[in-house]
Amino acid sequence: MKSVIKEISECKKCPLHKYRKNVVPGEGPLNAEIMFIGEAPGASEDEQGRPFVGAAGKLLTELLEKNGIKRTSVYITNIIKCRPPGNRDPEEKEINACLPYLIKQISIIKPKIIVTLGRHAGRIIFKLMGKNFQSMSKEHGKLVKGVIEHIGLNVIVIPTYHPAAALYKPDIRRIIEEDFKIIRNSITSREGRKTSKNMTLDMFLFKK
Ligand code: URA
Ligand code: SF4
Repeated sequence: MKSVIKEISECKKCPLHKYRKNVVPGEGPLNAEIMFIGEAPGASEDEQGRPFVGAAGKLLTELLEKNGIKRTSVYITNIIKCRPPGNRDPEEKEINACLPYLIKQISIIKPKIIVTLGRHAGRIIFKLMGKNFQSMSKEHGKLVKGVIEHIGLNVIVIPTYHPAAALYKPDIRRIIEEDFKIIRNSITSREGRKTSKNMTLDMFLFKK
């Protein structure tokens, strides 16, 4: 991961490098089972070089912790690693220039679950699985099994809305809250399976 982050920090493959204060490669443990992928850094992220540290990030952290998921236990990154000026949508050629970094990060982390935040992340990750992303309202909260084709990785993708969209829209806020319960349950059901398969007698005796 260090070499990918170094590559990103020196990257000038698209015009966005001209406007950045800091690159925002992503953060989290390399053995994370779950990866959250947003769109692109905003002003606070550009200032700090860390993903989801502004208002949307605060909501993301809150949604995670509310569902018993430690922010420090998941890997968080974006499709695009440099802030588009004025937070405009990233252009297709910028996305294509930056995507190899995300694919490398996915191949290192090998997450079991990828949660996409917002339409752009959903569309791009679906594309990497050879699937068509219809719309946020149709795809959110689904568990979509697929293969990240470039690296042959089996994953479950759970698309949800971007937390920034939920900040000022109570309807979206309610939906994203429900989607995060689905995310939590998909993690606990995986962990339940793992525990029942691998449980040793000691673990059994000491388990309350
Ligand atoms: N929005 C994003 O998509 N990513 C961030 O890191 C922050 C806000
Ligand atoms: Fe490089 Fe991505 Fe930044 Fe463009 S957005 S300069 S491709 S790291």
